[in-house]
Amino acid sequence: MGEKKKKIIKTIKVDVDKCNGCRACELVCSAFHAAPKYSSNNPARSRIRVIHDPLRDIYVPVYAGEYAKAECMGRDKYVIDGKEYDECAFCRSSCPSRDIFKEPDSGLPLKCDMCEDDPPQEKPLCVQWCLNDALIYEEREEEVEEEVKQEDVEIGLESMIDKYGLEKIMETVARISLSKKD
Ligand code: SF4
Ligand code: SF4
Repeated sequence: MGEKKKKIIKTIKVDVDKCNGCRACELVCSAFHAAPKYSSNNPARSRIRVIHDPLRDIYVPVYAGEYAKAECMGRDKYVIDGKEYDECAFCRSSCPSRDIFKEPDSGLPLKCDMCEDDPPQEKPLCVQWCLNDALIYEEREEEVEEEVKQEDVEIGLESMIDKYGLEKIMETVARISLSKKD
């Protein structure tokens, strides 16, 4: 058993009934994560996506969670208040079954980092920009077992290896490191 440690758990509560699909959250998230910051915006790069279907009056903001290397074998289907939601509609994973939560140029997985910043933001930006209060930020303290955190670079590499194979990645790294020495 690992050592217990106090940790601040950050959550964004989603009130689906208040979301009108304006997608301001997508815009600000992608702008905040652009390099340099706020230099561009592109919802495809956002770590929150609004699953929308205006004909069925469905707007579900979902923010990006962990990378998954394989599709689920079974799928969930939800019917809430008579509205039938698409399979995977509430899932937060960057996974091979769909295009969301992948950096469009590289295909690398995107994950919400709660707008990590220095100095820290008062609240995550998507929460600040949601004028309908559909996104509610909450913090609580919990005792958790200390875990070994997988670095973002490791997650990115793992997804590239899943996609192209280890051999191809090793070849590419070797070629790039040679060209950097020139
Ligand atoms: S900013 Fe708020 S209301 Fe607009 S799409 Fe995002 S969650 Fe929905
Ligand atoms: S908390 Fe920040 S990183 Fe996460 S979805 Fe909202 S704007 Fe994007």
